[in-house]
Amino acid sequence: MEQVINEKVNCLIIGSGPAGYTAAIYASRANMKPLLYQGIQPGGQLTITTEVENYPGYPDGIQGPEMMVQFEKQAARMGTDIRYGMATAVDFSSRPLKVQIDEEKWIAANSVIISTGASAKWLGLPSEQRLNGFGVSACAVCDGFFFKGKEVAIVGAGDTAAEEALYLSKLCTKVHMIVRRDQMRASKVMQDRVLKTSNITVYWNSETDDILGEKKVESVRIKNIQNNELTTIPVSAFFVAIGHEPNSGIFKGWIDMDETGYIKTIPGTSKTNIEGVFASGDVQDKTYRQAVTAAGSGCMAALDAERYLGEKGFH
Ligand code: NDP
Repeated sequence: MEQVINEKVNCLIIGSGPAGYTAAIYASRANMKPLLYQGIQPGGQLTITTEVENYPGYPDGIQGPEMMVQFEKQAARMGTDIRYGMATAVDFSSRPLKVQIDEEKWIAANSVIISTGASAKWLGLPSEQRLNGFGVSACAVCDGFFFKGKEVAIVGAGDTAAEEALYLSKLCTKVHMIVRRDQMRASKVMQDRVLKTSNITVYWNSETDDILGEKKVESVRIKNIQNNELTTIPVSAFFVAIGHEPNSGIFKGWIDMDETGYIKTIPGTSKTNIEGVFASGDVQDKTYRQAVTAAGSGCMAALDAERYLGEKGFH
């Protein structure tokens, strides 16, 4: 396919979470003149969290959205060209590398840093889609407030679900937690906190059969998978907290990935299977998924890209 190239850059960074902005800070300071496209959710997943207490340098903690504003400001101050826009396709078949933005213009780049992060997973029920935004949400911290004083349900059993159930228990009269197995995946300390919270009820061995309600969530019907018994619980909201998937769709066929879509990097580096293309942050990390590890890998990607550009003689 022949694309009309609208612009050519030395280093293109895709994504604006801790990985993308850290890559941008390092790349700018190394005079690589990076161009960063933010994607549809500038600031990434941290913009839908509240307090961040485990990012070093903030002894009193910081709100996730505020932290990302600071990351952006720092990248901008170093000279990164930051733009709102979404990478919609790539063509890595020849040099320069090519990335399409917003399904229209094509940017040519000597190096590309992929920091597109990960997104929440959904159950896949039609009612979940139909009532999304009308009581169905994948972010308790963003939307819990709207259901203050009400009863709500949450599905999932990992640390996210546990954390969100605890968050909701402080706002809502009752939290119904739907767990598909007879145990939780969440860390012991989080499980203990959930189980000790008097207004959280855990439904073990249960799956979500349907979310009910005409225009907004009115109840959830769950099925006990051991005896097939159906129970309908009146709730005003249904929160989905069943994990995340990497935002790597546009790179399929070009970049090597594992079976779940996480980009493979050469261990100890940010290098992908394509020379000049680097990956950092949650799109290549299904293990740690922390802001600080994402930032660290963004730094690695910028340093790897800088070395690559130097070796190839690009300026
Ligand atoms: P996880 O992948 O750890 O957990 C997902 C949970 O959702 C599992 O319990 C899984 O059940 C359940 N699940 C998946 N699909 C379905 C489905 N279709 N129906 C019902 N349940 C389903 O994701 P998290 O987002 O919770 O955590 C991701 C990572 O981030 C983890 O490593 C976690 O430790 C970390 N984290 C740490 C925090 C902290 O330290 N404060 C806070 C939040 C996350 P099953 O167990 O049966 O597979």
